[in-house]
Amino acid sequence: MNILKAEVIGFRKITMEVDDFSKFSFPRFIIKNDDKIMKISYYSIKNNVVTFVLDEDVNIKTDCYIFYNENINAKCTYYKLFASDEFNGRYYTMDELGVQYTSSKSEFRVWTPAATSVNLLLYRNGDPLIEETPRKIIMNENNGLWCTYVYEDLKNSFYTYEVTVYENTNEAVDPYAKAVGINGIRGAIIDFNETNPIGFSDDISPSSITNYTDAIIYEISVRDMTSNPNSGASHKGKFLGLTEENTVTSKNEPTGISYIKDIGITHVQIMPMFDYAAASVDERSIDKYNWGYDPENYNVPEGCYSTDPFIPECRIIETKEMIQAFHKNGLCVNMDVVFNHLFHAKENCFEKIFPGYYIRHDQNGFVCNGSGCTNDTASENLMMQRYIVDSVLYWASEYHLDGFRFDLMGIHDIDTMNIIRNKLNNFGRTIMLYGEGWDLNTALPEDKKAKMSNASKTPHLGYFNDVIRDCLKGSFGNIYDKGYISGKENLENNIKACVAGCIKYGDLPHSIFSAPDQSINYVSCHDNNVLWDKLIITNGDESEEIRINRQKLALGIILTSQGIPFLHSGAEFIRTKQGVENSYNSPDEINWIDWDRKDSYSYITDYIKGIISLRRNHPAFRLTTSEAVLNHLQFLDNQNKNVVAFLIKNNANGDSWKNILVIYNANNYSVDVKLPSGSWNLAADKYIASNEKIINYFTNSYKIESLSINILYNESENL
Ligand code: CA
Repeated sequence: MNILKAEVIGFRKITMEVDDFSKFSFPRFIIKNDDKIMKISYYSIKNNVVTFVLDEDVNIKTDCYIFYNENINAKCTYYKLFASDEFNGRYYTMDELGVQYTSSKSEFRVWTPAATSVNLLLYRNGDPLIEETPRKIIMNENNGLWCTYVYEDLKNSFYTYEVTVYENTNEAVDPYAKAVGINGIRGAIIDFNETNPIGFSDDISPSSITNYTDAIIYEISVRDMTSNPNSGASHKGKFLGLTEENTVTSKNEPTGISYIKDIGITHVQIMPMFDYAAASVDERSIDKYNWGYDPENYNVPEGCYSTDPFIPECRIIETKEMIQAFHKNGLCVNMDVVFNHLFHAKENCFEKIFPGYYIRHDQNGFVCNGSGCTNDTASENLMMQRYIVDSVLYWASEYHLDGFRFDLMGIHDIDTMNIIRNKLNNFGRTIMLYGEGWDLNTALPEDKKAKMSNASKTPHLGYFNDVIRDCLKGSFGNIYDKGYISGKENLENNIKACVAGCIKYGDLPHSIFSAPDQSINYVSCHDNNVLWDKLIITNGDESEEIRINRQKLALGIILTSQGIPFLHSGAEFIRTKQGVENSYNSPDEINWIDWDRKDSYSYITDYIKGIISLRRNHPAFRLTTSEAVLNHLQFLDNQNKNVVAFLIKNNANGDSWKNILVIYNANNYSVDVKLPSGSWNLAADKYIASNEKIINYFTNSYKIESLSINILYNESENL
C-alpha cells in the first residue's frame, strides 16, 4: 500500500489518500508533528480516503508526517489549510504591514505564521556589495504577525528580515517595501514626504474621460519611447525622458510625450515600471534589455529607468515627475502589473518568508504553472489577495495612477478582481481596470477564474479581446494565418460581432461581454509579431502600399468598434521589430520607437490621428451599455463580400451627428455601396480622416476604395 496524498485540511483534520486498501491496517498509522505523536480522536474512511480528526491542533511551524510501518510515510501539505476559513479566522490580518516611518520611531511588521523566529536586520548601505555587519533586532509574534519598534530616526537606513522557517534561515526583502536600494535587494527607510516633486500634491488626473469607453489606450515602454538617437530627449530611456516636452526629431517633428499628446490618445499604458529582477536588467549596468515581466518589488518603481538607482528616493521622485508630466499634458497613466507569478519560484521574498502560502498548488500538491513563468500566485489565499489589493490601491493613491492592466489576469480569481474594482470606484475619479483574461491551466474552479467567459460576473472589468485581434490579422497560434484585413474571407459576421463590442447582439457570434466597456479592442501589442511584421509574413508578396492600407484598415476598425480601443505604440507608423516575434530581451535597436521611421511614414500617423479625433469627438463610437448598442447600432445587409457596413443612429450617446455610417472594405478592389437615402457627408475615406466635413454626397450610390474604411454622417435625416 502506498500513500498517494496527505493533506492538513483543518488545524485538527488531516486527509490521506491511499492506492490499495486491501493491505490496510489502521492502528499502524502514526501522525507526527512538532516532534511528537499526535493523538487521533477518530477517523473515517470513504472510498480510498481516510480522514483523521485529531485531539489537538497541528503546529504549522513544523512539518507534519503520516507514518505507516517503517518504510511508508508521507509529508502532509498545508496548502488546503492555508486556503481555509479556519486558517483565515486565526491568522488573517488587516494590520498595516511594512515599515511605518516617523523621525522619532519606525515600526516594522511582517506576516508569517510559519516562522519560528524573525529578526529585523538594519544596514547603513543599500548595496550588498559593501561589506557590513547589520544590526539585528528581534521581532515578536502575535498570531503570525511579527512586529518591532525602533525608537530612533532611521531615515536613510536599509533593512531586510531574517526569517527562520521550516528549519531554514533566509534573508528577505520586505514584500511591503515601498523604497529599495540598488537592485531591490534591501528595503529603504525614507520619508515619503520628501518624494513629491514640486506641485505633485496638486497634481490631478485629466478629466478627459467619464466612461471607460471614452479611453483610447496607447501601450508604451519607458525605455523604448526615448532610447532612439533621434528621440531628441536628453534622458534617453529614463522616466525623465518622458517629462521632456517639445522634443523633436532631426526633421523637427514632435517625439516623446509631445508626440503622444499630439496623436490624441487619452491613456498611456506603461509596460512594467515596478522594480523587476536584476537577472533581467542589472541596475548597475543597463546594457541588457528586458521588458521586465519579472517582478522583484511590487511596490517600488524600477531602478534602471531612474537617473540614480542607488538613491532610493530618486526612482520614486522621477516616476512621479513622469506621471505629473503626463497629467499636465492631458494624458492618463495606466500601469501594467504582473501579480500572476513570482519571478523565481523559490528565491523570492514571499517564499523565503512564508513558503507555500503565496503560490498556488494543484490537487496533487504540485506548483501550478498556468502563467508559464514557473509558478502562479494564489490570489484565493486571503493574504495574497490582500497583497494585490493593497499594492494596486497604493499605486493609485501614492502615484496618482489612472488605471491598471493585469498581466495574465486569468490566473487570478474573480473575487480578487471585483474587490479591486469596487475599491477603485471609491477614488472619486475614473480608474480603469482590465487585463488578459485568458483561460489558463491553473488550479482554480473554472467559474472562479478571471477569464473572458466569466465576464458577466465582473462588471466594468475589461478584457483584452482576442476575438477581434485574431479576426483582424489571423490566429496568434499560427503566424501564417490571415484575418479579415489580410485577405481571409467569410469573416463578416465575426467582424460585426466585434463592432458590437462582443455583447449579445442578435444572432451574431462571440457574445462574451455584458457591456462594451469590457472589451479592450486591439490588433497587436508588445507580445507576438507587431502588426507590420505579421503582415510581411502573411502578405509579403504584396507591395508596401497595399500592406499599409491593410494596417490602416485594421487600426480604423479598432477605433470605430464599440468598446475600448488599444493601440500598440508605433503601429500608426508601421512599427517593425525586424521580424523578431518575441523581443522581450532583444536589444534597443529592435524594441525602440524608431523616430526616423515615424518621420518617413507621418502620413499614416496623420490618418490614424484623424480617426482618433473622430472617435473622441463623437460619443456614438463610445456607447456605454449593451442596450445602447442594440438601440443605435444597425448593420446594413446585402453588402458585397468582405464588406461590413453599419449605422450608429439617432444621435447615439448624445452625438451631434444624427446618423453615422461606417463602411469597411477588406477587398483589394473597390466596390459600390448603396447608401441609405438622404444626403451624406464624408468624414473619412481611404486617404483622409477628419472631424470636419470633407465633401457632400447627394447620390445614394457610393464607391468605396479597396482596403479602406469610410465614415459618413448626416445631421438630420430620419432613417
Ligand atoms: Ca530592478
